[in-house]
Amino acid sequence: MENNRPSIPTRQGHDTESIAWGYAEHLKFTLGVDRYSSSNYDRYMALALTVRDRLMNQWMKTQQTHYKQKVKRVYYLSLEFLIGRSMGNNVINMHLQPAVEEALSELGYSWEELREEEIDAGLGNGGLGRLAACFLDSLATLNLPSFGYGLRYDFGIFRQQIENGWQVEQPDDWLRRGNPWEIERPDIVVPVHFGGRVDTIVERGRRKYHWVDTTPVLGIAFDTPIVGFGGETVNTLRLWSARAAEEFDFSEFNEGDYVEAVAAKVSAENLTKVLYPNDKLYLGKELRLKQQYLFVACSLADIVRRFKKGGHSWREFPDYAAIQLNDTHPSLAVPELMRILIDENQLDWDTAWDITIKSLGYTNHTLMPEALEKWPVPMLEKLLPRHLQIIYDINHHFLQRVSIAFPGDMQRLNRMSIVEEGDTKQIRMAHLSIVGTHSTNGVAALHTDLLRSRVVPEFAELYPERFNNKTNGITQRRWLLKSNPALSSLITEHIGEDWITDMTRLKKLAPLAEDAAFRKRFEEVKQEAKERLAEVLAADHGFVINPGSIYDVQIKRIHEYKRQLLNALHIVMLYNRIRKGETKNLIPRTFLFAGKAAPGYQLAKLIIKLINNISVVVNGDPVASRYLRVYFIPNYRVSLAEKIFPAAEVSEQISTAGTEASGTGNMKFMCNGALTLGTLDGANIEIIDEVGRENAFIFGLTAEEVADLRPRYSPFDLYNGDKEIKAAVDLLFSGNFNFSEPGIFEPLRRALFDQGDFYMHLADLRSYADAQKQVQELYRNRDDWNRKAILNIAHSGNFSSDRTIRQYAEDIWNVQPCPVDTEHDPINTLEEARK
Ligand SMILES: *Cc1c(COP(=O)(O)O)cnc(C)c1O
Repeated sequence: MENNRPSIPTRQGHDTESIAWGYAEHLKFTLGVDRYSSSNYDRYMALALTVRDRLMNQWMKTQQTHYKQKVKRVYYLSLEFLIGRSMGNNVINMHLQPAVEEALSELGYSWEELREEEIDAGLGNGGLGRLAACFLDSLATLNLPSFGYGLRYDFGIFRQQIENGWQVEQPDDWLRRGNPWEIERPDIVVPVHFGGRVDTIVERGRRKYHWVDTTPVLGIAFDTPIVGFGGETVNTLRLWSARAAEEFDFSEFNEGDYVEAVAAKVSAENLTKVLYPNDKLYLGKELRLKQQYLFVACSLADIVRRFKKGGHSWREFPDYAAIQLNDTHPSLAVPELMRILIDENQLDWDTAWDITIKSLGYTNHTLMPEALEKWPVPMLEKLLPRHLQIIYDINHHFLQRVSIAFPGDMQRLNRMSIVEEGDTKQIRMAHLSIVGTHSTNGVAALHTDLLRSRVVPEFAELYPERFNNKTNGITQRRWLLKSNPALSSLITEHIGEDWITDMTRLKKLAPLAEDAAFRKRFEEVKQEAKERLAEVLAADHGFVINPGSIYDVQIKRIHEYKRQLLNALHIVMLYNRIRKGETKNLIPRTFLFAGKAAPGYQLAKLIIKLINNISVVVNGDPVASRYLRVYFIPNYRVSLAEKIFPAAEVSEQISTAGTEASGTGNMKFMCNGALTLGTLDGANIEIIDEVGRENAFIFGLTAEEVADLRPRYSPFDLYNGDKEIKAAVDLLFSGNFNFSEPGIFEPLRRALFDQGDFYMHLADLRSYADAQKQVQELYRNRDDWNRKAILNIAHSGNFSSDRTIRQYAEDIWNVQPCPVDTEHDPINTLEEARK
């Protein structure tokens, strides 16, 4: 690299020299530091801004193209986007990686090191939020015009520390050092109203509703560019941040109340302070309802504003906007869109209803009753009185339709009503979502079947055409190409790089499973990943991991239904066998766990404590630790996940059948060549449909068997009927793992025995232990193992989120790709800026 100014502007060139110059100028002119005063974070920031510059032109070009061509857009509304880091993906998708690496190395810095400075954007809990992030990548890569809409929480999912084995939550102050990927749009500001009352007046024979005396809050937009692979389409993720209204009424307070007035202003801004850290649990908190409405109101106002710029008639709204609701969290979109159409734009009810249904779609993410949102009517009455009226009107029309379809069936009306009767009435948001949208989809075949047959059968009967399945997926750009570069290179070397944008091409690897040389290469790549992970965990946590052991991994939210306890019980069985000297043929195994528990979920937090205590005892036992080690890796998050999946060999997907809607962790394991050890639940079923049951370890009851057995489930009989299970349970609760903390695990014993155990751990423990034996039998023959691992990668193509998004686009959204011109010559920014 010559030390000359590049011939093209430093904020555009994709060559090494322009990037180096861009970096240097940002360091000096944007960040105001030099080589002496800059921290590694400054250097990361300078690089990130350099990369962001190279997105700008195509971002604007994309938006102009969509505007000029009057395209239909997808609006993905999600209260969670679990993005993780953006640097690696942006650089890969723009084909900038070689130039960036070279520029940094010429400047004396390491790409590997600087990228580690990035703080995860952890604006989600788990699978639902990560799905939204994968969808953004696929939407942009498929050139689909789209916006992600969400909230810009000041604090994302908490940082998990482990102290004496217990989870301790720390706030995630992720914006503390600045976020280089976002651009604040102070001019894009939406007033949102809360409280007040509704005045009804009759004007020219028509009833009109005025929502008055409200308290306004503002939503300010922050935009993040989302670049697709190849850099052609750059879509937008628009996140809203709450601000006190400018006309914030200080006069309402006496002069002496100045401090109270400022405090009230601050309280408005608290709306987007923090992400609720509960996965699959409805809490019913007022602040959460306010978040949901702020989010929905800002997003719909923005969508409507953009639609109006196009100059179309209202009837055409569904031809220009496909709005997808990620779970019921944004389901206030139904009454809010009705309110906008009727109260603000004077449409009649039937026309407004037709437009609303046609433009909205709803994705259901769980069957678990404790996750179902039901907002108390008094809370809605107080915060959103006009929306409550509209919901009642919707329900009235809906129940009329039900009673015509099923005359005289009062019970059915009660069951299906959007309003649940009771001491305090509640609004069933799932019913509202099904009634108020044209599509309700589940996220895996089994989940959609159960949704239709068990959860809302009467809705499926009334609206059979609305129900459909869209099996979840993951983006191979992040979960294989970026996070596992060695495996990606091996794959590309043999079958070319088409799999990056068409994951089904991985099928071409299937014949290579029979190629001994390829299997050897695969084994080497896996071994290197295992060694690398061992090094990282040694450096970060002091873990002592044997890279020659089997890496058996369960990483996901900690939840009873996911059954980390089943895994723990089996580990205790193994421990007992070793203590009895049954070590013949035992292959050393490392059990890795990671995951956060909701801060109020005591039992899940106790499961973390149990795993950590087992870890202390087992790893500290000189004999047992030769065969068996257990580690709980703190603070599971996207950037950590990316380091674990490449090294995994066994993928633990062991939920009670019928409880995991889809799972997406299972897909990340599969395409990184881990073998699934799983129940017939969620997408596991489709995974074995693709790869063949013989290439996975499937155990346990089916969803049907679970449902049949549940009323008769007797954990005591299973405990008494299996000596090894009895011994493991006895040891677990003997105090052996908590001798200085007597009795702490008793709530787990009660969960397994006294309370009937909804998740039926002991029903599957024997077949799980048997499947674990098969794991080790197969691993003894590494050739057979590697063959199956390669077949798993080869058959993982169906689980690309590109496939999922194509199906949404065709079946639900009816949107078409829109190609965007890519510039090759430098843009004359000066000319562009001229008036
Ligand atoms: C993929 C992913 C999940 C979802 O994992 P499941 O095993 O499907 O529950 C949760 N958290 C993170 C950080 C992920 O990357």
